[in-house]
Amino acid sequence: AIALRNVSKRFSGVTVLDEVDLDIPAGSVTVILGPSGSGKSTLLRCINHLEKLDGGTIRIGGELVGYRQKGRALHELGSREVARQRRDVGMVFQQFNLFPHRTVLQNIADAPIRVKKAPRQQALEKARALLQQVGLAGREEEWPQNLSGGQQQRVAIARALAMDPGVLLFDEPTSALDPELVGEVLQVIKQLAHSGITMVIVTHEIGFAREVADNLVFMEGGRIVAAGPTQQVLDDPNNGRVRNFIATVL
Ligand code: ATP
Ligand code: MG
Repeated sequence: AIALRNVSKRFSGVTVLDEVDLDIPAGSVTVILGPSGSGKSTLLRCINHLEKLDGGTIRIGGELVGYRQKGRALHELGSREVARQRRDVGMVFQQFNLFPHRTVLQNIADAPIRVKKAPRQQALEKARALLQQVGLAGREEEWPQNLSGGQQQRVAIARALAMDPGVLLFDEPTSALDPELVGEVLQVIKQLAHSGITMVIVTHEIGFAREVADNLVFMEGGRIVAAGPTQQVLDDPNNGRVRNFIATVL
C-alpha cells in the first residue's frame, strides 16, 4: 500500500501540493485525473522521491520514502538508499524515454543487468518473455526509433516490468500517441491490472478509468477534491467539478 500524509510541495514559494492525504491499497489500480497544472505529475514524482517533500510523509509498504525517522525529525536518505527504494517503483512517461542507441531487448534488460546484477542470459531471456507479453515478440533487435509510438510505449512498459516493481506509476502514458495507437497501450496496461502490482495512472482516458480503475482521484490546485471508488466518484451528482472536467476531456 502507498500512504500519503499531509504531503506538501512548493516550487519557488508556489504551493503545488497542498497537504495531500491519499491511501492507495496494495495491488489496486488508481487513476488520477485533473486539469493541467493541478499537481498530478508532481504527486507521482514525489512517490518515487524524484521530488523532495516540503512537508508530510509518503510510505510504501510501511517504509518511509526518501527519509529516515529519528525521533520526530526526518533525515533524507543517502543516494544508495534512495536508489534501493526506487528499484521497487517503476515509472512510465508520456515520452517513452527509451535509450536510442540500444536495441529494444537491450533497453529492457539493461537495468536488471546493471542495477540488479542479474545474470546476463537470464535478464535477456526475461526481456524476451516481457516483449512477448506486450505483444512485440520478434522485435528484439529493432532500434526504438523504428517502432511506432505505441510500440515504443509498450517497450517502455516492458522495461519497467523487468525490474519486478511492486509499484508502477504511469504519467499520461498515451497522451503523446496518435489516437489509433492509444488502444494497444491501454490494453497492455489493462492486462497488468490486478496482477499484484500497485498501479497509479495519470490519464484523461475516462473510459479506461471506468473499466480498469478501482479508485479515482481528482486533483485541482494541488489538492484532492474528490477520491473514492471509480464508479462512485464518476456518478456522484455532487461532484460537479469532476463532471465538468470530464465533459471537457471527452
Ligand atoms: P499537466 O496535466 O499539464 O501535466 P500536472 O497536473 O501534471 O499538469 P504538474 O506538472 O505536477 O501538473 O505541475 C504542477 C505545478 O507545478 C504547475 O504550476 C507547474 O508549473 C509547477 N511545476 C512543476 N514542476 C516544476 C518545477 N520543477 N519547477 C517549478 N515549477 C514546477
Ligand atoms: Mg503532468
